[in-house]
Amino acid sequence: MRAAASPRLARGSGGARCTSRDSLLLVKFENIKQAVEAIQPVRITMRCPACLREGTLDQRGGDLRLVQRGKGWSNNQPATGERICPNPDCAALIYLVYIPSSGEVIASYPPERLDFDASALPSAVQEPLEEAIDCHAGESYPAAAVMVRRTLEAVCEDQGATGGDLYKRIENLGEKIVLPKGMIKALHNLRLLGNDAVHVEARVYAEIGKREVEVAVDVAKTILQATYQMDAILDELEALKTSAVKAEATQ
Ligand SMILES: [Zn+2]
Repeated sequence: MRAAASPRLARGSGGARCTSRDSLLLVKFENIKQAVEAIQPVRITMRCPACLREGTLDQRGGDLRLVQRGKGWSNNQPATGERICPNPDCAALIYLVYIPSSGEVIASYPPERLDFDASALPSAVQEPLEEAIDCHAGESYPAAAVMVRRTLEAVCEDQGATGGDLYKRIENLGEKIVLPKGMIKALHNLRLLGNDAVHVEARVYAEIGKREVEVAVDVAKTILQATYQMDAILDELEALKTSAVKAEATQ
């Protein structure tokens, strides 16, 4: 669905921090005046879509106001500009639409890319999750939903979790790993898990949007952390304890 974006109202006034944004491919501003008006660029802090590091982006030339015909300019209306990632190993060029009063980024190109920790993940689990994140960055949300589901299927299979449908298999997985209280129950709200015991209908996938995919990816990441990565953290803690005991013994 590519509805014309209505410029969002700025949240607060001090924080120039991007929380969630769309791709420039998705955002459509209508009725913009042809005359170009330059503004002073605003400092923008966000996670670089290329290297995923967070930083205050370097400015690149002046920015432009997006003034709608018949309307005056206000700092709550969007502006466009270019920035460079401050990480010298990346230095990616990023195009932005943002709200000058708050510094909130409402769209970027390249689009936002969700990150995840791939350590200790079996490839059968990591690959579909990577594909889900690629689909999300490319705004293919139904395809991303299919791949999140495939990720969860792969975890259950890898861990030998059983049940008549994916929800029941995750429920069974929840008996083997420690998940946040109430999480399994709340998973009923994820439509991509589906009520159908055999498959989720294509119609349901078609209705799944950006927000739902992002929540589903967060859920998948939490499940992966509990299943594969918690032991690594515990091992690290154990190693700290061992080295502390050794250090004490040599004193
Ligand atoms: Zn970067």
